[in-house]
Amino acid sequence: MKNNQSSPIESVESISRIGNQPPSGENISFDTTTTPFSVDSFVLKLFNLQDDQAERINVHNEPDGLHVYIRLKPVPCRCNACGNMTDKVKGYKIRKITHSVITNSPCFIDYDQRRMRCTECGKTFVEPNPFAFPGEKVSAVTVYNVLQDCSRPHETFKAIAERYHISPSTVLRIFDSHVNIPRRKLPRYLVVDETYAFHTAVSDYVFVMMDYETMDIIDVLPSR
Ligand SMILES: [Zn+2]
Repeated sequence: MKNNQSSPIESVESISRIGNQPPSGENISFDTTTTPFSVDSFVLKLFNLQDDQAERINVHNEPDGLHVYIRLKPVPCRCNACGNMTDKVKGYKIRKITHSVITNSPCFIDYDQRRMRCTECGKTFVEPNPFAFPGEKVSAVTVYNVLQDCSRPHETFKAIAERYHISPSTVLRIFDSHVNIPRRKLPRYLVVDETYAFHTAVSDYVFVMMDYETMDIIDVLPSR
């Protein structure tokens, strides 16, 4: 396998959210054999692609957002069942990946994923790609940005979901599958009390739990 195919995780940190401007124009299309890629290096970086990795790229607007069609150049792939190298293509299937690198508009990669057939064992498998993890509908860069935002205490799942044009349940799923918060042990003495609070929707009092020995607050709940 060629080593110029970076995995989704490798260059995630090099791509940050692009503030205001989407890639300019509608229906930008270029053939990698004729287009000098220095001009388009910005677009390539945005999609975690190396200069010689894409066979075809087409940028176009649709009612639901900006769509970037990408087909990668064919390279021999290793069969994950028997390890044989093969370049036999079984077919193509478009995979829509949410790629929220532009904050003011939803952006999708319409990845024309190539399915390979092993010439030794006959099994089929998809080519490796730099955009998203297997079976994931959200790009690795978007997952990274969501996790970054989840680490800020004032953020809510709903606000993050709106920012990246995904559902709150997707944010929750990303958080749950990547963040492992170990369960805390109960203190030796747990003290509880209700205390007056100005702004709770449920009651005038909040329910406070404390560790009697350290006097650390363990949790504050909206009501008993
Ligand atoms: Zn095989």
